[in-house]
Amino acid sequence: MKHRIGVIPGDGIGPEIVREAQKVLDAAGKKYDFELDYTEILMGGASIDVHGVPLTDEAIETAKSGEAVLMGSIGGDAKTSPWYQLPPNRRPEAGLLGIRKALNLFANLRPAYLYEELRAACPLREDISAAGFDMLIMRELTGGLYFGERHTVTENGLRKAVDTLEYNENEIRRIAVKGFDIARKRRHKVCSVDKANVLDSSRLWRAVVEEVARDYPDVELSHMLVDNCAMQLVKDPAQFDVILTENMFGDILSDEASMVTGSIGMLSSASLNETKFGLYEPSHGSAPDIAGQNIANPIATILSAAMMLRYSLDLDEAADAVEAAVRKVLADGYRTADIWSEGCMKVGTIQMGDLIAERV
Ligand code: NAD
Repeated sequence: MKHRIGVIPGDGIGPEIVREAQKVLDAAGKKYDFELDYTEILMGGASIDVHGVPLTDEAIETAKSGEAVLMGSIGGDAKTSPWYQLPPNRRPEAGLLGIRKALNLFANLRPAYLYEELRAACPLREDISAAGFDMLIMRELTGGLYFGERHTVTENGLRKAVDTLEYNENEIRRIAVKGFDIARKRRHKVCSVDKANVLDSSRLWRAVVEEVARDYPDVELSHMLVDNCAMQLVKDPAQFDVILTENMFGDILSDEASMVTGSIGMLSSASLNETKFGLYEPSHGSAPDIAGQNIANPIATILSAAMMLRYSLDLDEAADAVEAAVRKVLADGYRTADIWSEGCMKVGTIQMGDLIAERV
């Protein structure tokens, strides 16, 4: 079976890490009998250099024509790169916002998984990290406070700023459905996070999530207030499977969950729309400080590619194999510089890709 995939190598370490992810995907394709037909898409600084803008209509059309997009990362060094002399709407990051909007990517997924081999990097107390954790934050990405009406005025000499947090039931329902669907591919647990003791938008959120839950009797639903969730993430992260939440809460909680893993080069992400289409990218940036040196960790991108196999292409077995290969490489003692510790073998970007591909 052949699948059409858009590939955005992007800037900085982007092209290096995406190349390794493609290597691993191709190895999985050979083993599990599928073929990926890649079309390269220019975005971010790479697009500015060629077209003068970070995202063209043609790039959007190419992205839309495939089943998924695999992305490296975009952007450069804001202090030295000429891209940042351009007005904000022509800078690399505008490309990312543009493609998310054009593809209607409203569901953002960020797994936080603690690898036993990298436990030393986890900043939590040892008795907490010993239990391990494997959670996924499902964040609503196109509504809420970041997209509501906002303004600043001066009234009677007093400056006043207003932001609006708005959700309608359809926006809540579609992200809840995604959350429950994905819980079915995991441990069948959803914890919906809100501030229902204060906010009307959270009370509607809770009511709609409960309505959706009726269609998923096999998934266990719980509710948690966001302030408690922020505490529980460092006190007992092992309790969570899927955390379902709105845009701003998800923004904060997903960064917190990432940090408790302690390894930025390992964190994958996906953004999905109403169909199976998704954009898959590492959680980290384009790391211009280490670009072109063959030292970047490609694992976050390789794990993002595994998510693409699972969520957009329904190739769950191949996704499992890629994730198992990553675990095996770590168990065998190989590390890129960012996750290296005493007694391990230090390898570069390309070798890490080779080692994982061999183990798929
Ligand atoms: P960054 O994530 O690129 O780098 C932070 C630190 O982590 C750096 O020291 C970097 O060397 C290291 N690092 C990141 N990824 C690594 C990897 N795979 N292997 C080893 N080390 C890694 O964040 P930043 O420096 O704040 O941003 C750099 C650029 O990336 C900026 O232009 C920013 O706008 C952009 N950015 C893009 C995205 C995206 O494309 N989604 C996300 C975040 C930042």
